[in-house]
Amino acid sequence: MRRQNERATDDISQRTLIAASTAKPAVCDLCSHDGGKIIWRDDRCRVVLVADAGYAGFCRVIWQAHIKEMTDLGEADRQHCMRVVLAVECAIRSVLNPHKINLASLGNMTPHVHWHIIPRDVDDAHFPNPVWGEKMRPGHTTTTEAGCALVERLKAALAQLR
Ligand SMILES: [Zn+2]
Repeated sequence: MRRQNERATDDISQRTLIAASTAKPAVCDLCSHDGGKIIWRDDRCRVVLVADAGYAGFCRVIWQAHIKEMTDLGEADRQHCMRVVLAVECAIRSVLNPHKINLASLGNMTPHVHWHIIPRDVDDAHFPNPVWGEKMRPGHTTTTEAGCALVERLKAALAQLR
């Protein structure tokens, strides 16, 4: 009888652990909002353009389901996610030819798998710091017209992605 109770307690602990690792927070920005202007999507992930006039072409690849870590995804999904991230990097490079691309996946504030693909230039506001780091200079801003043209060029560059 005692052993049965211990086993029952273990089962409950295990279930609690699994529930905690896949639990969706009460409010998740990336579950409740697109996270930017959608420029490509399939049933597993979406590519959005981030509304940041100082960083034209700043994109995010966001996994559609609420998944916390890349290693919570199965092998095929991990590969698909990275294939999309690298396709976005190629699209940004072909359209903008930036000095450098920054790839980042943090998720400390929003623990929902997403990748930042950020074109960087030596005269942008934060270079050589990360865009979340100390600001070094005023940087440059993009006009709405240039931003709209950029959306269309990035969409065209991603059109072949399946
Ligand atoms: Zn989420």
